[in-house]
Amino acid sequence: MFNSDGTGLAGRFCQMLAALLLGLVLAQQALGQTTTGLDDPRGGISTLPDVLDARVTATPERARLILDLSGPTEFAIVSLSGPDRIAVDVKSTGTAIAVPPDVAGGGIVSRYAVELAEPGRVRTTLELAAPSQVQQAYILDAVGDQPARLVVDLIADTAENFAQRVAADLAASAANQGVPPSALSTDPGTHGGDLEVRPLVVIDPGHGGIDNGASAPNGVHEKDITLAFAVDLQKLLVESGRYDVALTREDDTYLTLNQRVALARANKADLFISLHADTFQQPEIRGASVYTRDEKATDVLDKVLAENENKYDIVAGFTLPSTEPVVVDILVDLMRREMRKSSFIAAQALVHQLEPSVTMRRFPVRQADFFVLQAPDVPSILVELGFLSNAADIANLQKSDWRQRVVQALARGVADYFDTLRATPAP
Ligand code: ZN
Repeated sequence: MFNSDGTGLAGRFCQMLAALLLGLVLAQQALGQTTTGLDDPRGGISTLPDVLDARVTATPERARLILDLSGPTEFAIVSLSGPDRIAVDVKSTGTAIAVPPDVAGGGIVSRYAVELAEPGRVRTTLELAAPSQVQQAYILDAVGDQPARLVVDLIADTAENFAQRVAADLAASAANQGVPPSALSTDPGTHGGDLEVRPLVVIDPGHGGIDNGASAPNGVHEKDITLAFAVDLQKLLVESGRYDVALTREDDTYLTLNQRVALARANKADLFISLHADTFQQPEIRGASVYTRDEKATDVLDKVLAENENKYDIVAGFTLPSTEPVVVDILVDLMRREMRKSSFIAAQALVHQLEPSVTMRRFPVRQADFFVLQAPDVPSILVELGFLSNAADIANLQKSDWRQRVVQALARGVADYFDTLRATPAP
């Protein structure tokens, strides 16, 4: 029943080899792409877009630039000194942004400017309050009510590293006769393809079989939506070569909540992601959100949401899963607390990557008493992709391009989560 797609059990080794080979292929492709930049004759973008809007948020640790675009384009990034800044060039006809809004938050980016640097090139200059580096940068195609976007994430860096990049960019620029060096769009998880044991991600498509989950007025069922997202997310994560990925179900099968939890625990999953698209009593509530478990969570709406979710086992003829036994073992208690911390970090990482891509609920990192998140030894999160009680969400949830956008954001979030874990080893 634990359909592991060549992972988890005997097939894990074979998949390691396959992924290693795939990794080599991807590396070769990446080498072949190093000329992709503003001067790339193969660029093939005939009509350049406008830069419609810009915003920057910053904290002492990180910053994010979002440019709304009238269409997809190409970009390049360069580090500059005196004063320290990072310039982001996009192929674009122009921009109406004369004075960009203030940087929200205040942190490693103090202010920024957006201007037409020359015909066909709009430059956004981020003035740095502290040395920083580009963590990732990517273009999102327009989907539904979301325009095309360029997203650039910065993280803090040492002054030495920043100075080295300035020098390298300067040298590359001179070699290219004034053309700034190219920046490759960072695909989810292309970095860090080490040979170490890969984490196991278990994706749990909510509901299945006799349990349809929520249903939209047009008859589409939650169980089918969650499965489509799970299969695509698995594919993307496996392609990155960084993870083993298993699904709790790969077809229209019914599983109890306890079975889902047990599968993750028995296979010692490093991350458990349950996917849902439930309904709310209030049809106006829409957008994606990510939940961690908290039995004492107080939000009334979330409480009803979790209670309804937990009740599906009864609907399907099973008794409610037993709630956790009273903890007498201090080690289990410690482990559980550690897992909750990790779950919260994972939720934050996924939300951070979803935010520029799709409409989110207000305060999208949320807590509720979802039984499916009860494993004491597996970091567990539940993603509400959207709500089948909201017309706009229903439309999005059925679009394959919207699904791709979400799945790519989730994959980036998973990569960020494991990067964060690696950066802060357990005490
Ligand atoms: Zn559900």
